[in-house]
Amino acid sequence: MPGEIYFDNNATTRVAPDVFEAMRPYFTEHYGNPSSIHRFGSQVGQKIAEARAQVAALIGAADPVEVIFTSCGTEGDNAAIRGVLEARPDKRHIVTTQVEHPAVLGLCQHLEKKGYRVTWLGVDPNGMLDLDELRGSLSDDTALVSIMAANNETGVIFPIDKIGAIVKARGIPFHVDAVQTAGRVPLDMRALPVDLLTISAHKFHGPKGVGALYVRRGIPFPPFIIGGHQERNRRAGTENVTGIVGMGKAAEIALAQLADDSERIGRLRDRFEESLLRSCPECRVNGQRQNRLPNTSNVSFRYLEGESILVLLDQNGICASTGSACTAGSSEPSHVLRAMGVPAEWLQGTVRFSLGRFNTEKEVDDVNQTLPSIVQRLQGLSALGKLASQEQPRGSRGREAKSIGARG
Ligand code: PLP
Repeated sequence: MPGEIYFDNNATTRVAPDVFEAMRPYFTEHYGNPSSIHRFGSQVGQKIAEARAQVAALIGAADPVEVIFTSCGTEGDNAAIRGVLEARPDKRHIVTTQVEHPAVLGLCQHLEKKGYRVTWLGVDPNGMLDLDELRGSLSDDTALVSIMAANNETGVIFPIDKIGAIVKARGIPFHVDAVQTAGRVPLDMRALPVDLLTISAHKFHGPKGVGALYVRRGIPFPPFIIGGHQERNRRAGTENVTGIVGMGKAAEIALAQLADDSERIGRLRDRFEESLLRSCPECRVNGQRQNRLPNTSNVSFRYLEGESILVLLDQNGICASTGSACTAGSSEPSHVLRAMGVPAEWLQGTVRFSLGRFNTEKEVDDVNQTLPSIVQRLQGLSALGKLASQEQPRGSRGREAKSIGARG
């Protein structure tokens, strides 16, 4: 769609042009099987080794063999959790949080039905974990702790270093879902007390359908797809060569641009939020201001429906989402916002705006022009919205709001 403004970069990102160019020859000229003995294939194997080193560099892994390519973040999360549990069959307790992505949440719910005991750590109204609650939840029976690095809906960043120190002091394996973090915030696996880490290429301008699972050397980890010898026998199956090459290139670019990208995107995000909060008195930003991904704004509009806002945004060529793309289509309010205790009148009217490398200041200003009038129009149509606007102190709403409200 020409002219669209894409503010949904937590759902997925545009493949960077250099990433696409790096992938192209592996569709056309270099189509050999990386496991083949002949040079035509084995050259492709060398390219995979290069991509592995690029991904290892992005996350600060000490050794590229710690990186296993997967088909996506969901696979990485599932493989990590199932792999650790299989390696420690005597332990039956898992610790995770109430705000995980469905890739972890859904699997842990499934495991709970299968007889595992799961501790679901809560969060405070800022979206933050209580580290004492975490400490108190660990026991000799704990097989694994799985906690995300940053939340996909709110962008709230968890203190993975502190969490890891608590978990590792008890000798328990620690898995981190860093799907929204890699390429946006520095990650250094040499320094972080983390054993397994999941990332996904399509969140940092790589292709869809390829991800990576980091497994620290020495962590007992059985193969999770059984078959051929690929990925050092840990994940069998002919490699997604083009995807892996693209992921490697995307990782290289993300690492080189990380500081600049996060600074620039953070400034755009702050500009967006400041203007929005000025022009829409009945809106609030969910999640703490500090320690939040620089690109994510989770905004609630009181008494409104997030989906109605999205439809009108879409009519204006603006892409955003109500929450995780993986929960789109469900009418349930977000489990993340519920865990944060967001009051009912704000829950349904939530929209996630997530910016990325290719967004511009002009786009931010265009959205800031369009969004307040959409909100005012919907408030004019909604009985509760009208109530909300009348609750405003005199003079706090402009003339435009009154005239649009009268039209509804
Ligand atoms: N974990 C988090 C935090 C995510 O945001 C996502 C995707 O949105 C996933 C896991 C799943 O990744 P993928 O889409 O590559 O399966």
